[in-house]
Amino acid sequence: MWLPCGCASKCVVASLSRRVFRSYFHVLGGRRHNIAAFMPESAGFEGVSDCSALQEFSVSNSESFWAAAARQRLSWISPFHTVQDCDLSRGRIKWFEGGKLNVSVNCLDRHVHTCPERVALIWERDEPGSEFKVTYRQLLEMTCRLGNLLRRHGVKRGDCVTIYMPSCPLAVASMLACARIGAAHNVVFAGFSAEALAERIRDAQSSTVITVNQGVRGGKLTELKKTVDTAVQSCPTVQQVFVAMRTENPVAMTAKDVAMEEEMQKEDVVCEPAAMDSEDVLFLLYTSGSTGKPKGLVHTQAGYLLYAALTHRYVFSYHDGDVFGCVADIGWITGHSYSVYGPLANGGTSVLFESTPIYPDPGRYWEMVQRLKINQFYGAPTAIRLLLKYGNQWVHKYDRSTLKTLGSVGEPINTEAWEWYHTVVGDGRCPVVDTWWQTETGGICITPRPSNPDAEIVPGMAMRPFFGIKPALMDTEGEVLTSNHTSGALCIAQPWPGMARTIHNNHQRFIETYCQPYPGYFFTGDGAYRSKEGYYQITGRLDDVINVSGHRIGTAEIEDVVNQCSQVAESAVIGYSHNIKGEGVYAFVVLKKGMDVEEMDLSRQLNDLVSKKIAKYACPDCIQFIQRLPKTRSGKIMRRVLRKVVEQDLNGLGDLSTLDDPAAVQEIIEGHRKLSASLLSYRCVPPRVC
Ligand code: AMP
Repeated sequence: MWLPCGCASKCVVASLSRRVFRSYFHVLGGRRHNIAAFMPESAGFEGVSDCSALQEFSVSNSESFWAAAARQRLSWISPFHTVQDCDLSRGRIKWFEGGKLNVSVNCLDRHVHTCPERVALIWERDEPGSEFKVTYRQLLEMTCRLGNLLRRHGVKRGDCVTIYMPSCPLAVASMLACARIGAAHNVVFAGFSAEALAERIRDAQSSTVITVNQGVRGGKLTELKKTVDTAVQSCPTVQQVFVAMRTENPVAMTAKDVAMEEEMQKEDVVCEPAAMDSEDVLFLLYTSGSTGKPKGLVHTQAGYLLYAALTHRYVFSYHDGDVFGCVADIGWITGHSYSVYGPLANGGTSVLFESTPIYPDPGRYWEMVQRLKINQFYGAPTAIRLLLKYGNQWVHKYDRSTLKTLGSVGEPINTEAWEWYHTVVGDGRCPVVDTWWQTETGGICITPRPSNPDAEIVPGMAMRPFFGIKPALMDTEGEVLTSNHTSGALCIAQPWPGMARTIHNNHQRFIETYCQPYPGYFFTGDGAYRSKEGYYQITGRLDDVINVSGHRIGTAEIEDVVNQCSQVAESAVIGYSHNIKGEGVYAFVVLKKGMDVEEMDLSRQLNDLVSKKIAKYACPDCIQFIQRLPKTRSGKIMRRVLRKVVEQDLNGLGDLSTLDDPAAVQEIIEGHRKLSASLLSYRCVPPRVC
């Protein structure tokens, strides 16, 4: 893979008891905390003397708060004239209008002026011990060459470039090169299949794709370029594919392909940044919704960048010189906000992790923490649960004394995993921040930190709203729940700069999904509990979206694929509690009449189909073949009944009077019992049964 010359390459809580942590106010001064030292903008906020007052101010004086932060933390080409122009009930969200800036300048040039040799990225390659460091100067150079190359090949302001690459410096440079020349990017997770990639390329109307010859993960090669070749066949808009070389293995090049590194060498290292309006599109990122069609959420320039930077700085207590280790792939929003935009906007050093938590062994994360001297580690509960099972010795083997904050994201973190993360990984001295947010929110919205000195952190709770965030819980009638110790639908009561602006090509869907369910509020799709003390705990999705290993997938998306199998008449997919993945995928499948098939073979076929059409992570863990689905007389599938059967909560089946054919339920219960028993004999882990 092309890398700039002179790169610093080497070798090539046991119960739910309350916990109290020292905060970084103390770390800053060891004295009484000083709110202006903590956040310089707050010096101008009247009556703000501590962090909770700052949070209140940020919500009740949202415009003053965000205007001050935007002036202080972003470099503008021309200043904004209007802080916000938002009407949530109509899905109109605009921040910092009139302002012009360039995101790549904010992430690179301004740091190159002050500290060109500071390390921007540490690429933790799949091969252990072969990390690769890229300074701000080098990253700017890479970005400019790439920006010039894209421009020379006709990519212009307003175009959308699809990026299908693993986490690596060239992927980051590709994102920033788009930002530099005013194009939007559309990063597609490199684990998605050719069909899923093609669907996203078509929806984004990309004429340019950037990829690598092969991916390397867990010691295995993946044929990413070949996947792009297949995808592009059904994407008439694509005119060119830039191919970088991650491995030395040659790949067949087509007439559309451009050897990226070779061509970059011919380009100038200076690239004029485009002056972008605050509300121009920065990127699209596709995520699953409750229909079969993924939605391309749109994030814009200034508001997104500011929110990513501010959350990165304050949630993790990131300070100059720290090494920030977010192990998410850049294909997800976590990688966008906390591997790329947040850390780089803050002039930080960000680790790009290409491997898996158990390659070459379950000590990988902690060996990396020791070797790279990571200060903040940000990962997913699914990996924590997996590593916990391998035992403490893999953690104890390595020096983790550099760690200051541990973060968790993507799904609820159960108490056992939280405790292990805190006591074993963090030696009981690092705050664990369980951060709740989503692709739509752009950055972290509910999180234990920042907070007042010594404010408590309750295991497994996201706890407190971030600056500018005003959560609201709604009851089934759509009324705001004002008391504590209550659960409801989680909404956010006022706009914030980091939120998505629309769904690409479908603003109506944006309004219907997020703005109409509770008019005047942003509906998150999640449920939450507010404790007696007023802390928030996320209870899970309220729609037909499941969260597998921290990745969202719509049940309808999987059903669409399963139903494409010629033997299948119909299907229903639900999520169930899985001890490693958080949620597993359980598919109920009805075969067409007269089909005589071996169930094991068909299960395998269906899994292959889902893997081919979507991605491996979406494959069902359990497939139960049934005669008919439980439906109401009007033909609606009663998913609630299916969930209860799988949870083995037969007393909780509820009112079955609307069922068209009550006998269907008995058959399903019987079938589930048999399937669970047979899975046990195969040493699989069926839901709840073992
Ligand atoms: P995504 O947009 O793919 O990042 O998925 C966002 C969804 O993941 C949220 O709507 C939640 O359902 C879930 N999620 C993310 N973070 C957390 C968390 N800390 N606790 C519970 N659920 C979470």
